[in-house]
Amino acid sequence: MRLILLGAPGVGKGTQATLISKALSIPHVSTGDMFRYHISNNTDLGMKAKQYIEKGMLVPDEITVGMVADRLKQEDCQNGFVLDGFPRTIQQAIFLDKILKDLNIQLDMVINITLDDRNIISRLSGRRICPRCNAVYHIEDKPPKNDGVCDNCNAKLIQREDDKEETIIRRLQVYHSQSEPILEYYKNKVKIVNIESHKLIEVTTKRVFDALGVDYKMLNIC
Ligand code: AMP
Repeated sequence: MRLILLGAPGVGKGTQATLISKALSIPHVSTGDMFRYHISNNTDLGMKAKQYIEKGMLVPDEITVGMVADRLKQEDCQNGFVLDGFPRTIQQAIFLDKILKDLNIQLDMVINITLDDRNIISRLSGRRICPRCNAVYHIEDKPPKNDGVCDNCNAKLIQREDDKEETIIRRLQVYHSQSEPILEYYKNKVKIVNIESHKLIEVTTKRVFDALGVDYKMLNIC
């Protein structure tokens, strides 16, 4: 299965992509995670990407698309993948078409997760992440058992630099102007399923897996 998850920052794409990846045994390809990996390893690519990410701007295509092309050509992506955070512009969608054509494969589905901006701001500004194991928490909706500390590995939780409120607002503006038009691009090309994000993750998960035709409760992944 070759899937794209679309939606504004904070709708839960990363969480759902992780579950899909486990359930269908396909890699979760997240450009945001790839950039964060490069940044924490101080690579050249990471240093270039950092200045854009911290301002809530998109990393330029000349940095992003090569990174994705290299990833999709790897062996573990040959039987499918779930793309999260890419494409984010029409140009990137056109580029993805070209990569897929070169690899002689097609997309199966686009899942578009929706949520209004007000809820997104509250979700993202309350989000805390574990810098060690990437677990995600929310100060109100999903607090860790011990304040500020990861349940899994006891690391001190942090707020992503780009989850500060003014940066979130900027990211939403970027989403509406540059990423939302991608839906129009895929219309009549690929099956698109719209799913409203619910406050309870498991409700959103059920909606996503219903769209995929998979009974996630049977999979014991949540
Ligand atoms: P995410 O974790 O998907 O919210 O991504 C975090 C940040 O990484 C975004 O706000 C962008 O600055 C950058 N980023 C992630 N994916 C892309 C992409 N496809 N194109 C450009 N920038 C991206």
